[in-house]
Amino acid sequence: MLPFDAPSAGDNALTDAVMAAASDYAARNPRSAAAHAEAAQVLPGGNTRSVLHYDPFPLAMVRGRGCRLWDADGHEYIDFLGEFTAGIYGHSDPQIAAAIRAALDDGLNFGSQTLREADLAGLIKARFPSMELLRFTNSGTEANLMALALATAHTGRKSVMVFEGGYHGGVLTFPKGGSAVNVPHPYVTADFNDTDGTRTLIRAHAADLAAVIIEPMLGGGGCLPADPAFLRMLRDEATAAGALLIFDEVMTSRLSPGGIQGLVGITPDMTTLGKYIGGGMSAGAFGGLGAIMGRFDPRRTDALPHAGTFNNNALTMAAGAVGLRDVFTPAAANALNARGDRLRTALNAAFIGADLPLCMAGMGSLMNIHPVAAIPNSPRDLAHADKRIRDLIFFDLAEDGIYIARRGLMALSQVLGDTEIDRMMAVVTARLPRWQGLMVR
Ligand code: PLP
Repeated sequence: MLPFDAPSAGDNALTDAVMAAASDYAARNPRSAAAHAEAAQVLPGGNTRSVLHYDPFPLAMVRGRGCRLWDADGHEYIDFLGEFTAGIYGHSDPQIAAAIRAALDDGLNFGSQTLREADLAGLIKARFPSMELLRFTNSGTEANLMALALATAHTGRKSVMVFEGGYHGGVLTFPKGGSAVNVPHPYVTADFNDTDGTRTLIRAHAADLAAVIIEPMLGGGGCLPADPAFLRMLRDEATAAGALLIFDEVMTSRLSPGGIQGLVGITPDMTTLGKYIGGGMSAGAFGGLGAIMGRFDPRRTDALPHAGTFNNNALTMAAGAVGLRDVFTPAAANALNARGDRLRTALNAAFIGADLPLCMAGMGSLMNIHPVAAIPNSPRDLAHADKRIRDLIFFDLAEDGIYIARRGLMALSQVLGDTEIDRMMAVVTARLPRWQGLMVR
């Protein structure tokens, strides 16, 4: 088996280079290799979260501090992955760590209402006024499951519009060809950023459409922002069809103080959140119009149930509140996203300067490297991207002490500053001639 994702036939120099890089990687990381082999005795493929696997074996990280990580073999990395966008605070932010310790001192999880959940909910509502009422879950996946369940109950309809390349959780994932483990809603799949085609599909399915769910920027799909005009069309057409418009802002809520909805000024009926929203603890939230979310009011005789032992768990509520109130303030959100814009612009300029078929897609603090020359607008533009190039970049950056997702995702944390960004630019600049020799043929 070749040690990388999806080798394509043809260019042997590139294939050889990726195989050599993978083999150097394996030689440099014997402890990660051993940890992987041992884990495979008890976890399928040594793994309990599929995205973390890559060939020949994934790095086992053992320690983090600020924006730095150390692996089991003692290598130090600058963490440009930021826990797939959940790690906005870096590793063990002191204010969040203090809040967690204080919550621990008070005793964990009482089997009761506490004073904390309304505090965090209030902070979220202040940032996302469209979430007039909200509820907590333990993950973004669960938030989306609940939002869709509510949409079908509220509208009395069954179908859900999704977008190819969309990701709303492990059981709500929409690659080309679908997924065998998705929850069985009747899905209508539209093309991301295809305004006319999607409008036609919404109108064709209007009678049974419960919800249109969209990431305002495809996250797992490669950091591809939705065109604001496309989102506006969705807003208008969902209203006309009587379907709920759900913005999955699990990843994108960090892209301004009030998420992408705040940036583009479009108000969804429902919003889902997750990732950093619990201060680094397991978290999710879903919310929206009071008239719709009010269906969960347990004082109502027709109340819908919503359960979850850890929905108001002490650590998430405490850490999330300090994070939003004191650390990821609106000013901090703006500064972080401006830093991300600068990095993305600088990388794109470097790729253009070297005449490389590479680009960074994304917005603000979230970005993804793609082995195509023009910034993609939808997953269709990536259909022929050569995955070997992403593999090569991953191995090269790892060797140089920079950790990104194997698929090319980078998510900046608040503690990642100009020094680290300068280091990234120096590493990429030094690697450009090698990449050019292998890619431009
Ligand atoms: N929605 C989006 C847009 C996501 O990116 C993710 C996770 O990456 C989820 C939902 C699922 O969140 P979780 O992993 O917390 O279940």
